[in-house]
Amino acid sequence: LGGSPTLWELIRRRAELTPQRPVLIQAEADPADDRTLTFGALRERAERVAAGLYERGVRPGTVVAWQLPTRIETVLLTAALARLGATQSPVIPFYREKEVGFALRESRAEFFATPGVWRGFDHTEMARRLGAHGVFEAYADLPEADPAALPAPPANGTDVRWIYWTSGTTSDPKGVLHTDRSLIAGGSCLAHALRLTSADVGSIAFPFAHIGGPDYLVMLLLYGFPAVLFEKFALPDALDGYRRHGVTTAGGSTAFYSMFLAEQRKDPARRLIPTLRLLAGGGAPKPPELYHAVVRELGCRLTHGYGMTEVPMITMGAPDDTEENLAGTEGRPPAGMEIRITDADGKPLPAGVDGEVRLRGEAVCRGYLEPSQSAEAFDPDGFLITGDLGHVRESGHLVLTGRAKDVIIRKGENISAKEIEDLLHAHPAVGEAAVVGLPDPERGERVCAVLELPPGGAALSLAEVVSYLREAGLSPHKLPEQLEVVEALPRNETLRKVLKYKLRERYA
Ligand code: ATP
Ligand code: MG
Repeated sequence: LGGSPTLWELIRRRAELTPQRPVLIQAEADPADDRTLTFGALRERAERVAAGLYERGVRPGTVVAWQLPTRIETVLLTAALARLGATQSPVIPFYREKEVGFALRESRAEFFATPGVWRGFDHTEMARRLGAHGVFEAYADLPEADPAALPAPPANGTDVRWIYWTSGTTSDPKGVLHTDRSLIAGGSCLAHALRLTSADVGSIAFPFAHIGGPDYLVMLLLYGFPAVLFEKFALPDALDGYRRHGVTTAGGSTAFYSMFLAEQRKDPARRLIPTLRLLAGGGAPKPPELYHAVVRELGCRLTHGYGMTEVPMITMGAPDDTEENLAGTEGRPPAGMEIRITDADGKPLPAGVDGEVRLRGEAVCRGYLEPSQSAEAFDPDGFLITGDLGHVRESGHLVLTGRAKDVIIRKGENISAKEIEDLLHAHPAVGEAAVVGLPDPERGERVCAVLELPPGGAALSLAEVVSYLREAGLSPHKLPEQLEVVEALPRNETLRKVLKYKLRERYA
């Protein structure tokens, strides 16, 4: 495309190339309710919606927050805001007062689009309670008007036009500033890494309000294939949608793979989704055991990547890589993404040595909404300090070993929570495991393992866990000193990531 195209430019160009091809297919519980939108209609309708918003006072740069589910209308609203050059701040639909209030306040949103009553909860009423400005509903009907009066679309892709919110896994969520350019860079790298083609049928089962949303849209625009959207994603019902529309690639986080696997195990002889050839996800650690089980039992490729709100696509497994690389690493960075592993002072470390992960490249965010956070986040060479730990193999594959905040320091020794978690995951009686450090007067921190048992699983004792880990070769100073068994680990709503700070609070 050349230059620094905007998201709208991508939409416009694709609509000219393949106007009749479908871009979005909404899969509903009743197949008779399924709806399809073509690339041509995406452009046309988004322009009408842009005009409707313009009439209401939305201008280039106006901050518009929206909390909407994964629906055709939501994509239309996103496209319309991109057409206007407004600044959009997507909020995950499951969020309530605390997170929504935070997002509205911090972003100073002048407009707020809600789904009205969605899944039994009145979002418009919540918005009023929070004193939100410019509240409007954008679930079934979007404001529309004649586009003739619209000003020209934004001229460049380098202005900040997106405010995303981090998951708040380690502290309060941070507002992350993106440009069309950084999101397009992420989306095009993703498309390339996954080796998808115009013959694929994608799917969006995660919240479109997640940073992966526009990334996925960019992929559809570049390659011209459609995605099936799931507003209410629940297995086994959603399987019908995948089968009905011949989905070839599905994605989500680690929790997603486990869901598919559990479904497959109910009827091992029958392929769960016959057309599915690639499961692609990321965003959370994937236990190697789970990886191998998915590939063996689901009969498709699985690639897993590393991303964050600040940099949606950092590395991705290549579908044609070896199983060892795919299971044991996060894949390689695409061209244009520089990964530097450093010590705590920012000094680069050689291949194979663990250190801090730092990133530089087009897909990296511009910074944070809060200027003091931006100042701390980038090093003098312009690399983003991610707070993640890992090393890069000679082959260029990245191996993540944990998060700086998850390192347990017991008697001055650094202990990786992930090493212990991976071993625990391999134990048949463990569903999910989270290992945290708890304050300890003598040792600084002590190792605490929190286990979620599989359905019907028998409880384990600390002695059993310790002897299992010892036999598995774990060094004695890393053995857990405390064990907690829970029905369900505390997780966030977007990617079902375990909230370790809650565990630390609970068991400290
Ligand atoms: P906050 O920044 O508010 O504490 P968060 O970092 O969890 O929350 P996200 O941006 O949603 O918010 O998540 C990015 C983080 O998720 C990464 O920094 C990394 O720690 C983790 N992550 C992403 N992909 C992977 C992966 N493939 N393996 C392990 N961890 C991953
Ligand atoms: Mg983070």
